[in-house]
Amino acid sequence: MKVMKRNLLLSVSALPMMFLAVLPLTSCKENRTMQDSYSSAPAVDAETAMKYASDFFDLGPKPYRSEQLETAAEWIRQAAGPYADSVYFPKCGTEDEKIVNVVAEFSGHDTKHFIVIGCHFDTKQIFSAPAFAGANDGASGVGAVLALMKAIREQKMQLPCTLRFVFFDGEECLYQYSNTDGLHGSRGYVQLLQDSGTLSQCKAMILLDMIGDRDLVITPPTNSNAKLIQESERIAAQLGRAKSVQPLKSGMLDDHLPFVNAGVPSIDLIDFSYGEQNLYWHTSADTPDKISGESMKFAAELAVRLYLFAAENDLGGKTGRK
Ligand SMILES: [Zn+2]
Repeated sequence: MKVMKRNLLLSVSALPMMFLAVLPLTSCKENRTMQDSYSSAPAVDAETAMKYASDFFDLGPKPYRSEQLETAAEWIRQAAGPYADSVYFPKCGTEDEKIVNVVAEFSGHDTKHFIVIGCHFDTKQIFSAPAFAGANDGASGVGAVLALMKAIREQKMQLPCTLRFVFFDGEECLYQYSNTDGLHGSRGYVQLLQDSGTLSQCKAMILLDMIGDRDLVITPPTNSNAKLIQESERIAAQLGRAKSVQPLKSGMLDDHLPFVNAGVPSIDLIDFSYGEQNLYWHTSADTPDKISGESMKFAAELAVRLYLFAAENDLGGKTGRK
């Protein structure tokens, strides 16, 4: 939408007499260029995403520091195994913190640089709803990511740089978000990148969180990179779902934040409006009947296009405004 408007203004000021003739040509060229740059993006299967998400949901609650979370991490390792070049549990944080992140890596043409596509897989510990297993808040990200990994492998997608899928532990706080509670997995992972001297090789971070809602409207918050936000709107329009991405007017605390704070251009693809007045969020109503494979498919196809965009463009630092 913004790109079309700019073309219109340029056409009018430069060639007023030829306005009507020029506009369609300009639009076609723009469309062709955009399609060419994403022609290598694979098609993600909606049913596959839904199956992964509901199977993952069926594992039950997976709060940070629980045995069930370790079982869930092993489940992810086995599910990702056939698709990724390598799957591993990076050593993040101290023994005491017990962080269990899972990384599934696909090496790309440029092996020096990598881009992270992340999601959290832990579920919120809710004392009033002890069976909470998070179909949207947790499982939808896992379903979208696994279906995307399958599509990349089976459709032999050529990757311009290494792609790391990171499944984060401990996104949810146990009690209240603070510097020491919540975002455990992503903070621990960024610390590991810093300690190993590889943070500068991380070109971008794309986060998927709560993207399974049947009525999906992804609202990238303002603490995302501006160029990634703008491109996500263009991609949504290109995929015929312009209304499914609507940038938020405020920031968001989520797993992208440790990356942003470390200077990595990042975007949070999140729909933080789940059910009327967000009623399904963090309640026992967050069940698979409220989520849709089509929503996960769209989010995954958006994420992989943003990966291509980030691999090939200067994102202007963490804010995208320089
Ligand atoms: Zn949550």
